[in-house]
Parts: sequence; C-alpha cells; structure tokens
Amino acid sequence: MFGAIADDFTGATDLAGLLARSGQPVSLRIGVPEGGDAAPFEVIALKIRTEPVAEAVSQALAAVDWFQARGVTRFFWKYCSTFDSTAEGNIGPVAEAIMHRLGVRQTIYCPAFPENGRAIFMGNLFVGQQPLAESPMKDHPLTPMRDSNLMRLLRPQVTGDVALVDRLTVAKGSYAVRAALDATDARHVIVDAVADDDLHVIAAACRDDVLMTGGSAVAMPLPGLYRAAGLVDVAGGDVWTMPEGPALVLSGSCSAMTQRQVAAYAADNPSYQLDPLALDRDGVQPVLDWLAGQGGTPLVYATASPEKVRTAQVELGRERAGRIVEDTLAAIAVSQRNLGVRRFVVAGGESSGAVTQGLGVRRLDVGPEIAPGVPWCAADSGGVRVALALKSGNFGAEDFFARALA
Ligand code: ADP
Repeated sequence: MFGAIADDFTGATDLAGLLARSGQPVSLRIGVPEGGDAAPFEVIALKIRTEPVAEAVSQALAAVDWFQARGVTRFFWKYCSTFDSTAEGNIGPVAEAIMHRLGVRQTIYCPAFPENGRAIFMGNLFVGQQPLAESPMKDHPLTPMRDSNLMRLLRPQVTGDVALVDRLTVAKGSYAVRAALDATDARHVIVDAVADDDLHVIAAACRDDVLMTGGSAVAMPLPGLYRAAGLVDVAGGDVWTMPEGPALVLSGSCSAMTQRQVAAYAADNPSYQLDPLALDRDGVQPVLDWLAGQGGTPLVYATASPEKVRTAQVELGRERAGRIVEDTLAAIAVSQRNLGVRRFVVAGGESSGAVTQGLGVRRLDVGPEIAPGVPWCAADSGGVRVALALKSGNFGAEDFFARALA
C-alpha cells in the first residue's frame, strides 16, 4: 500500500491524477483523516508549504502515523516541481522528520516534471529553458525562488549531508542509480532527470525504498512497478461521473501562466478582479452582488502583476494580503455552492486549499485529466456532490479554463 503526503492541495491532485493514469483507483484525502481505512493508493493533501516548520512537521507526521496504522509500506513526500519553499523550509525538515519516524537512512529528492517543462540537470532546476531563479518563480507572492541549485536550496533545510546523482549516472540505468545511492553516506540525494525515461529509471531504482520524495512525475511509474512486483492488485474501480450544474472559475494564483489564462478567459466571459485593499475595506459583499447579476460561467480573480502584488503586500503585509484573498475565494465558493453552483475551476495551490477547506471537502475521487497534473475531482460538500478542478499556478495551457469547462 502506497501513502503520499502532499504539501498543498493542487500538488495532491496533481500526484493523484498521475497515479490514476496507471488505471489504479486513487483516493485523495483533505487533511489527516480521523479514522477509516486506507485505499491501496492514498494521497493526503495538507496545506503546509508555508506553515511554520514545527506545524508542518507535526501535520506530516500525523499523516505518516495514520498510514502506518493502516499497514502502508511505501511512503511519498510530494512537494512542488519548482521546489517552492521558504528559507526556513519546509521540504527538508519534513523529509528529515519522516525519515526519522520511519527509520530511513536516506531518501531521494526529484521534483522534475518533464511534461510540464521542469527538468533537473547537475542539480540545477529548470523551468522550460530558464533556470528556476530566472523564471517567473522568482516573483512568487509566498515562496520567491531566488536560487536554481537544489543542493544549495536544500542544504540549509536539513541537518544531514546533501549529495547529487547526476544525469550521467541516470543515463546508465536503474542499477547504476541504485549503486550510486548505496555508495554515498549522504542522507539526502538530489537526482537529476530531464525526461520521462529518466523518471522510470529513478523510480525503478527506488522501488524498494520505504520513502521517496519529489514532484508528482517521479511517482507516476510506481503503480506499474508495484504491480509488477506483486505488491498491489491489478486495477479496477468505480466509474467516475461529473456532477451536473452551473460552474464558476476562481483564481488566486499570480503565476505567469495563470496571468495568461485569466486574460484569455476574461476576453470572452464575465470577469471580476479582486483587490486585497478593497476587500480589506469593503469585505466580500460587492463581489457577491456582482455575481448575482451574471449569466454564463463567470471568473473571479485576484491574479495581478508582481507590482500590484507588491503594493498590496507593502500595505497589508505578505501573509495578510494572501489570507484576505484566500478567505474571500473560500467565502465566494461556499455562497455560490449554496446558490446551486456545482463545478469549480480553481487556480492556485494555496487558493485551492482555501476553497476546498471552505467547502468542507474531506475526500476527493480522482477523475479524468484536463492537462498534465490537473484532473477533475468529485467530492461531497455540504450535502451535495461538486466537481473541482484544482490547478497549480503554472500548469495548463492558455485556454485551460475553457478546456476544463468543456
Ligand atoms: P500558485 O499556485 O500560483 O503558487 P497560490 O494560490 O499557491 O498560487 O499562491 C498565490 C498566493 O498569492 C495566495 O496566497 C493568494 O492569496 C496570494 N495573492 C493572490 N492575489 C494577490 C494579490 N493581488 N495581492 C497579494 N496577494 C495575492
């Protein structure tokens, strides 16, 4: 049985969607469940990317305990393919705490997601053709990434040594990767990957590891490898159905791709831009009044340029500005669900977390993929069935919102 812990909600749906590509039914939990059974492939979504380290560690360990009590034997710590973390963590501290809890000597770090343009070469992370620190991630509202070197990013976050298994070793195949991992005393090993084939090599090398860490893509080969090893039964699950009803698009992501998606959708559809300063002053009612007068599928977005985000942050503080936007998106989702909206497309990891929590969703059934790493999910919310497409900031093409709705 496979248990994954994701540091944000879109990261969890991303991972669940890629695991489900194997045909294996995947269950996704929002927060650590209070009991119940674990499915053979279970993902627990936490919202701990930017929490204080102690809080992030404590929630991750609670998830590990829940899995362990249900006989899970393979663990996965999932973070963003752009290694989003603050200077304090939380990728390293959570990995180290899980290693300690499971008695694991060493683990790998592989955030690569080639299908979405995330590649690691000589320990440096690229977004498309740009080094991470030159990509739009340098201006992220919560986790600005100002270094592209994963070893330099991870080192201050952990107490053990950090090493690299580079692309030249990965090119030699899974036995070479296994041998390189076994040969190093380092407890934390970054592994290069530039293409899907590399991920298969790495996953095969780590098939017997109790703990792996990375982005979603390196986990994609695992269901097949576990099935081949006789660890899980061959797939077969319920048919996924889309809840019917009106839809709404909500965006709290300021990532470069979301900016383009918002602009593309707003060109043909009713749209309303949230301003944190106005929200702080006037609350959520003005946007609810606006929504009441709309037909079609409206878009409500806080998405703004880096300059506008900085202005709001200077005025309100980074955390407060983010919180106001997130609380607003959650409040809108709840009010619109109560008015009959049944399908929500949400852009932004933290934003999706806020909306999902607001809607009181505890478990998601993973459905068809809209774009790499973004599946539709179905869930119970306030006594009705709703569909959620939770999109990480930089995922999807420019027409993502229209595509998801179609
Ligand atoms: P992504 O997936 O692109 O990283 P997130 O939703 O995870 O998106 O993060 C974006 C953060 O920026 C959220 O906390 C959101 O509330 C905040 N935010 C969104 N719009 C604004 C804005 N106009 N000013 C300040 N902060 C904002």
